[in-house]
Amino acid sequence: MSDRVSDPRRNIPRTDTLLARPALMAAADRLGADAVRTAVRAAQAEAREGRIPPAEVGAYAESLVAGPPPLRPVLNATGIVVHTNLGRAPLAPEAVAAMTAAAGYVDVELDLADGKRAKRGAATLAALRTACPPATDALVVNNGAAALVLATTTLAAGREVIVSRGELVEIGDGFRLPDLIASTGARLREVGTTNRTHLADYAEAIGPQTGCILKVHPSNFWVSGFTSAVPLEQLAELGPPVIADIGSGLLAHDPALPDEPDAASALTAGAHLVTASGDKLLGGPQAGIILGDSDLVQRLRRHPLARALRVDKLTLAALHATLTGSVPPVTAYRHVEPDELRLRCEQLAAALVEHLDEVTIVEHTGHVGGGGAPGVPLPGWALALPESFATRLRLGDPAVLARTDRGRCLVDPRCVPVDRDADLVRAILSAATGPA
Ligand SMILES: *Cc1c(COP(=O)(O)O)cnc(C)c1O
Repeated sequence: MSDRVSDPRRNIPRTDTLLARPALMAAADRLGADAVRTAVRAAQAEAREGRIPPAEVGAYAESLVAGPPPLRPVLNATGIVVHTNLGRAPLAPEAVAAMTAAAGYVDVELDLADGKRAKRGAATLAALRTACPPATDALVVNNGAAALVLATTTLAAGREVIVSRGELVEIGDGFRLPDLIASTGARLREVGTTNRTHLADYAEAIGPQTGCILKVHPSNFWVSGFTSAVPLEQLAELGPPVIADIGSGLLAHDPALPDEPDAASALTAGAHLVTASGDKLLGGPQAGIILGDSDLVQRLRRHPLARALRVDKLTLAALHATLTGSVPPVTAYRHVEPDELRLRCEQLAAALVEHLDEVTIVEHTGHVGGGGAPGVPLPGWALALPESFATRLRLGDPAVLARTDRGRCLVDPRCVPVDRDADLVRAILSAATGPA
């Protein structure tokens, strides 16, 4: 045998041969042709380097593209619109398209007219100002918590943030706003009591150490009974800058959520800065939105921390599309009519009943979720199945997250896109026949 024939590299399968393997063709449908081609080249390189035998190149390439995606898509059948464990707001198709378009080189910090550096994300900031006319400037950071950190750091590091004891909230997963603010080097100056805080409490706390007054919307709970809080209009007259952390990110008032604060109303009432999340009721990508007085926003923008909290081009693109496009899914899901949900449940049940005798239709109340509007019920309907379905639905393909309640598994179609109802039926049927 000559060296040429014995050289194992001669036996490495050709790219075309590898790409024709059924598993790699299927992977190309899932991941795109480029990803599979990259895996094939990597496998060939391994063989060329002698790290795997040529006969294993195909299997090795398959292993590179195998496995579930790192974040598995889930059908949200809980009736909870902004579901934190499912990634909060699902993006509108326009926002998804905008992110894809922004994935390459884009003019995020370039003025194509003169070729010079431009303000980062200017179109998105302009869209925010259009959506919230009382704001004279806007800034986007990583999330709502980052917006609050940047605002309190800029206005009050080394000094005091005056805040009502009724607003020292924990926002979820053990994160507490007071701890967050203390971590910035600002000192909390707590005033009032859990249920009642008066204008005089704030007024007495103001002094040379005051950096700002903070008003937090306690979004995930509500207090009733003997309560009192000071409206923004009065806080704004005390002198120091007032930050309103409205939380969920409504930019304008929504009559369907009468108690939910919005950015435009807060600024009109006198707040100097508003901070909010992009992926709660606004229905966009994870982001922290800062709106308000242009001098203050400019100070925040110049603070060194702003650079550490800034968002990427994908977020700017998705947020812009959310602000300028059609109604985002979280808004649509909040407003689905109960009768429409009932009809969908009947259609789902009709498709199931032939194979499944334990399905019924029940009234079911959905929720805004994500710590927003805790007192607002969203009336609707759900399919009721035996509780044992819940685990099998979660582990199915597609994965479905349903609600378990008093021995039942409730499947609420509110937050399932209508065009996925057939997938929902398929998932329920395979849960019915699958291993227990
Ligand atoms: C959700 C929330 C936050 C935190 O916002 P993230 O975007 O989750 O960081 C801060 N304040 C309030 C009032 C909230 O509701």
